[in-house]
Amino acid sequence: MQNLHDPAVIKEILSRRGFTFSKKLGQNFLINPTVCPRIAELGGAREGSGIIEIGPGIGVLTNELCKRAEKVVAIELDGRLIPILGETLAEHKNLKVVNADVLDLDLKELIESEFKGLDVYVCANLPYYITSPIIMKLLQDRLPIKAVTTMVQREAADRLCAPLGSRESGAVTVAVEYYCEAKKLFNVPRGSFMPQPKVDSSVIQLSIRENTPEVYDEALFFRIVRGIFTLRRKTVLNALSGSMGIEKASAQRILERAGIEPSRRPEELDMQSLAVLCRAYGEESAG
Ligand code: SAM
Repeated sequence: MQNLHDPAVIKEILSRRGFTFSKKLGQNFLINPTVCPRIAELGGAREGSGIIEIGPGIGVLTNELCKRAEKVVAIELDGRLIPILGETLAEHKNLKVVNADVLDLDLKELIESEFKGLDVYVCANLPYYITSPIIMKLLQDRLPIKAVTTMVQREAADRLCAPLGSRESGAVTVAVEYYCEAKKLFNVPRGSFMPQPKVDSSVIQLSIRENTPEVYDEALFFRIVRGIFTLRRKTVLNALSGSMGIEKASAQRILERAGIEPSRRPEELDMQSLAVLCRAYGEESAG
């Protein structure tokens, strides 16, 4: 097995195959040898587990996952990497590589057909240009998975793991808190990648909750959250009327019903207040 962390090995494989990095696809490959074993171990790769990996690149993390898990399905969008993965990971018989955009795949169906009887986890070094859409898809599709363990930009890690009600929190923080418990596992400096990105990264873990919080109406809840967080630094009164297209007087009545001070900011509201706001909005609309 070649050492896929070694920049000289990576360069040799890529130049022999005429491969050049695509910035557009967020291709920064890991060269720090300590990171992938830690993601694999903390991420649930073990006997009896099935792993979905998003964006295997040339297979450096995939290799560590295949060594530990029962089965790995790696989803890679860049067709140029498929034959390369065939070469670098040829020894692993428990691996299936799928050439697709993860955002277009029916992951529920993939889990049913590939991982019968296994505990399923997602592990990745995600392409940074679509971190949030991928995480939102993994959570909102209500997949039968235990956890998502992934590398993300440090700033995204801070936002995703921020406590609700803090300045870093955004709509995605609310969604993460609703579906899972988030924690930062460890930091990864920018020098751990080739080519080197301009920012540092962190590995986070999202452990899926068995029961989601009671929020009155899930669809309405997320419509309100997405709306008011686009105006998160405004007062909740202005954010609610502006983003939901309702009269100020009506927004005022909803906030009164919810017991929320109109001068507060959306970013200051915790899960409980957002849930109460959703109920008040629903009841006010019902008349
Ligand atoms: N796992 C490798 C590593 O750690 O060295 C590569 C990680 S690199 C940050 C992200 C990978 O995701 C690239 O291989 C890229 O081609 C792939 N990718 C980008 N967009 C994707 C998408 N929409 N669906 C699946 N893979 C994607």
